Amino acid sequence: MIKIDLQKAYEYLERIYLDQVMTELGFPRRFTNWVMECVKTVSYSILINGETTHPFEAARGLRQCDPISPFIFAIAIEYLSRILHSLKDTREFKFHPRITARISSWSARKLSYAGRAQLIQSVISGIQAYWAQLFMMPTKVMEMIKAYCRSYLWSGSNTITKKALVAWETLCSPKYVGGLNLTNLRIWNKAVIAKNYWDVENKVDKLWIRWIHTYYIKGEQGDNIQVPKPKSKFTTWIQLHGKMLTTDRLSKWCLNVEKTCCICQLQEESREHLFVQCTYVRRLWDRILRWMSRPMYNAITWEQHIQWTINNGKGKSKEAQVFKMIYAEITYGIWNERNRRTFETRRQQWETIAKEIVYVS
Ligand SMILES: [Zn+2]
Repeated sequence: MIKIDLQKAYEYLERIYLDQVMTELGFPRRFTNWVMECVKTVSYSILINGETTHPFEAARGLRQCDPISPFIFAIAIEYLSRILHSLKDTREFKFHPRITARISSWSARKLSYAGRAQLIQSVISGIQAYWAQLFMMPTKVMEMIKAYCRSYLWSGSNTITKKALVAWETLCSPKYVGGLNLTNLRIWNKAVIAKNYWDVENKVDKLWIRWIHTYYIKGEQGDNIQVPKPKSKFTTWIQLHGKMLTTDRLSKWCLNVEKTCCICQLQEESREHLFVQCTYVRRLWDRILRWMSRPMYNAITWEQHIQWTINNGKGKSKEAQVFKMIYAEITYGIWNERNRRTFETRRQQWETIAKEIVYVS
């Protein structure tokens, strides 16, 4: 039987091993060097009597909470999981969850409910920090963890019992609604994995546009069109509901703000101006519609704009899908530009935004 303590593995990951594994897995040397650079430059300093010590370098281990760590760890254990994969058909090989061992070691101690709840939280946090960040955990495993924790909480034993005074889901809710604020592993697991996807997605910039170029523009047909990036989708959603905090809305709350459109400096900023009438956005739309071989943009009022959006985006055709993605990107692009100019005093020409959206010049 092999027992692996993932927590320890995380803390004691040897640099040289990581380098070797990445090389073995065929990562380009340059990429491996980048990763190693990130791992090597970790230094710690300790707070003693309110003062920090001189920083000292870490020889091994991964930074906890560093967004890159789970991925590095995934690479490191990939090698192990390949070995395990070949082992899993061997009869003598058994997977033994460590959680029961941990619970057994506590059951000897006679603790109050509060003390038990704290211990359970510590074990759940451990699982959350290592396993839940990397894998979609099987429902069966999560149900089992829940059952052990629940039984321990209510009976102090390390065997699964049915006795429970309050539903587990309730215990996982915040204290102000009567819960114990335990981590709901099922929800956390989903959230963390989704966040990982989000990070990856955001770094693969404009992938869907490349897809469109390859499959749509060249007349080839693909089956799945990628959805717009969540951030632009969300901006669009807010915008279509007329909830963007444009300055006309801010000034309704008596906030003292500059009312002139920061993009054209000609008219007052409102959602109608910013997204429909501003010369900047009209030029952007004209350019992109031309690229899409679509009729010119002629909406003038907000209502016309919405009607035009609905007409173009309805249905399941590829054209409608592409329109929706473009619409989301343009909305996001304009809102971004507006914020850049307002808060960072940086500016981009509409041509640059058009180029970013559809790779046209
Ligand atoms: Zn304007």
